[in-house]
Amino acid sequence: AAPRLGLDDPQGKALGYVEDASKLTVAKEAAYKKGSVCSGCALFDSSKSEGGYAPCLAFSGKTVNAKGWCRAFAAKS
Ligand code: SF4
Repeated sequence: AAPRLGLDDPQGKALGYVEDASKLTVAKEAAYKKGSVCSGCALFDSSKSEGGYAPCLAFSGKTVNAKGWCRAFAAKS
């Protein structure tokens, strides 16, 4: 499996990636909308999901937490 996106990853930091979206609030993160998580994002490749992590198209070669979130979130249509 591809390596997980680390919380110290510069690209991840630039997009405010977190492993647990449930800890986010709009006060902390203005772009966040309650209920949005990686597993519901169009960039999350759930077909390659393993142990709660799957590749994210925004972070090439890295996997992200299904319960995570970042500012590139785009709801699945
Ligand atoms: Fe999660 Fe989507 Fe951000 Fe990738 S782009 S880290 S799947 S919210």
